[in-house]
Amino acid sequence: MPEGNWQFCDVSLPVPLDQAFTYELPLTLRHRVQPGCRLIVPFGTRKLTGVVLRCHDTPPSEVSAREALRLVDAEPVLDGALIELGRWIGAYYCAPLGEVLRTMLPLAADIRSGKVYELTDSGRDAARQLLLSAGPEDPAWEILRALEARPLSANWLQKKFPLADKVLRALERKGLVLASQVREERDPLRAASERMRIEPVPRGDSALPKLPKAERELLAFLDLHPGTHNLKELEQTVKNASPAARSLARRKLIRITPEPIADPSARGVFAPHLLNPAQQTAFDKIRGALKEKKYETFLLHGVTGSGKTEIYLNAIDAVIALGRGALLLVPEIALTPAMAGQFFSRFGDRVAILHSAFTDSERADQWRRIRSGKAGVVVGTRSGVFAPVRNLGLIIVDEEHDQSYKQEETPRYSGRDVAIVRAQNLGACVVLGSATPSIETRYNAGRGKFTLLELPERVEARPMAQVELIDMRVEFLETRKHTTFSRRLLEMLQERLEKGEQAMILQNRRGFSSFVACRACGERVQCANCSVTLTYHRRDRRMLCHYCGYAEKVPDHCPKCESDKIYFLGVGSEKVEEELHRHFPEARIARMDRDTVSGKRRFEAILADFRQGNYDVLVGTQMIAKGHDIPNVTLVGVVSADIGLGMPDFRAAERTFQLLTQVAGRAGRGRLPGIVLIQTINPDHYAVRLAGQQDYVHFYEKELEYRRLMAYPPFSAMANILVRSEKQEQALRMANDLSRFFVPPPEKMKVTGPVEAPVLRLKAEFRYQIVIKSQSRKALSELLHRIRKYAVETKWPATALIVDVDPMTLM
Ligand code: ADP
Ligand code: ZN
Ligand code: ZN
Repeated sequence: MPEGNWQFCDVSLPVPLDQAFTYELPLTLRHRVQPGCRLIVPFGTRKLTGVVLRCHDTPPSEVSAREALRLVDAEPVLDGALIELGRWIGAYYCAPLGEVLRTMLPLAADIRSGKVYELTDSGRDAARQLLLSAGPEDPAWEILRALEARPLSANWLQKKFPLADKVLRALERKGLVLASQVREERDPLRAASERMRIEPVPRGDSALPKLPKAERELLAFLDLHPGTHNLKELEQTVKNASPAARSLARRKLIRITPEPIADPSARGVFAPHLLNPAQQTAFDKIRGALKEKKYETFLLHGVTGSGKTEIYLNAIDAVIALGRGALLLVPEIALTPAMAGQFFSRFGDRVAILHSAFTDSERADQWRRIRSGKAGVVVGTRSGVFAPVRNLGLIIVDEEHDQSYKQEETPRYSGRDVAIVRAQNLGACVVLGSATPSIETRYNAGRGKFTLLELPERVEARPMAQVELIDMRVEFLETRKHTTFSRRLLEMLQERLEKGEQAMILQNRRGFSSFVACRACGERVQCANCSVTLTYHRRDRRMLCHYCGYAEKVPDHCPKCESDKIYFLGVGSEKVEEELHRHFPEARIARMDRDTVSGKRRFEAILADFRQGNYDVLVGTQMIAKGHDIPNVTLVGVVSADIGLGMPDFRAAERTFQLLTQVAGRAGRGRLPGIVLIQTINPDHYAVRLAGQQDYVHFYEKELEYRRLMAYPPFSAMANILVRSEKQEQALRMANDLSRFFVPPPEKMKVTGPVEAPVLRLKAEFRYQIVIKSQSRKALSELLHRIRKYAVETKWPATALIVDVDPMTLM
């Protein structure tokens, strides 16, 4: 509680500097400001929102303090424990505290301000010129075209255009665009556009007014597709759907209504199961620990279909009975309305859902319900780990091995590992659940850091699916044809169709063909911004970069040698779907990958359709592998198990094993037994072979041996330092400059680099990397902080240095 009349406060700001800034408090704020509140302050020419760390009466020694502008919160939004957790994250992941604290707060909606870009007069002229002369391959082209219509927020532009940041800076330097800081009440229709449903208003016979093209197109689409649509998803199909919809709504030609957060229709009733003996034993151990109110982490290692969710639900019941709160983290893709429905059915309005697909204001609502204590059970994705649950007693991390727990931007934290540290600080328990635990987690269980709980069998003694590996080299020798599907897979598919059972087909690569190449000279078409090949997407008739979103038309002639012998290589999920249609014209086939699933809704809609039997076959990327429980699926086919294996990445084998085991786990979950066919040209690779045998233990032992030999985690603390710049010489020079920290080699560390990153150029920047494996976590951490300090002091551009601690990938 505020004691008093402090004159100054220290504020942590979201800037890449490792220090708090002191501000003077105007008289009106002196009684009100407390640590943990957000405060708007001037910083250079900008206004920033920071978090108050400390109030005091000591004026800063060197410069005079500037005056704070506005207090955002009457009460602290971060308590002492969460700020402490933030400090740990900053230290461990080598990230500035201000940026960590910003990540921890899902409350951006409170501050209605942001940067808005508009064209200047010369920008308008230039736009016209450029639109005539250049084409969509110039990133400035699309941005200028968008700005021609109206001013746009920096946020929106960044979401829409991969390189917006850089392009806008360049345009600003040339005086073509103008940035301004606005603070406005948002148009409520606009603010919530991602979560709006739209439907046409019956018009009767009255004639339509004359409408602009976009509005006409939208109306025509709605006439052809009656019913309500999610506005965000419509944007994928109808160009400029959002502005057109707003304008049509003003004309009363369509209706726009907000979409409820969790679909009440999804709140079915789920009767709890009686725990079977294995579940009961595991649950008893967890309950025992919860009662002690002491920290403990459990690894719940249960095969697919062993009933882990039921244990989670029971553990949450138990912790609530003890008067404490619970937090369940799930991978990004797994948090569907159906999953939420299960929790509503069990815990009613005590549940809050935190999902990145929510709008800022929805997230802020949920966050406040949690903070006020109204919601004591929280289900969330990665950043849910920061939810201000009252008296938190239990954190469950489902599918703990999932990559989406690692944030791939600053701060690069792991939600799973932060959960463990948070629980340690609070005297709470953690349950890490998985059928394929990460090597690190299983290792920690093996040496007693975590308590191992095992569910070795499926519920009701259902058999594990029977898995067969199909050697596609043999298939080729016998058929003399390069085919996508083996004869065995086609045969089994045919059988499912005849019996009315369902199948899933995994191809973990989206698009139609993964390369477009020239037969005459061998040239492969590359991205203009990245050193990767473009993927052909047939539906869009375009080649796309999967890293930066760059797109271009398929050339008629080779750009290098002018030959017209262009051909397509490699099979993506789009092509798998097409070939399946050819083999089985009668079958009802759905596809699920990032091309067909834009919103979370769409994902759930396809799954629900499939579950209800409206499709026979579901084709997809890894999206289809995760956690779905569809009883009528009796066949799972993997088109190519080899896709991830070739990656120059120390987790390639682990990831392949996990993916294959998880997707195999989709088969035979109901009363009918399942079969899994894995096509591969590496049947002897241990990840493929042992996934075929669904043998986690031997995979773990083998992989652990490799990690030990190579001193990879868990046998070292690892960090990946990336240095990047648009100019290759500059990136290389800065990377070499860091050699000062590595000559002579630091004690107990193995350092590789600087070398080119496996993807040398990404989003128009060249990248060099230094990989450090250290025997001492502390020494590594100190070194990384020194390096970051050096980069700040030598005034490297703010984006030049990336420090990734415990990296998930080295690409
Ligand atoms: P996992 O997450 O371990 O793969 P789930 O939690 O999805 O498995 O459970 C698989 C299925 O078994 C679900 O349909 C669930 O309702 C059911 N189930 C869970 N526990 C039991 C039980 N004790 N008896 C019968 N069915 C159960
Ligand atoms: Zn050529
Ligand atoms: Zn690219």
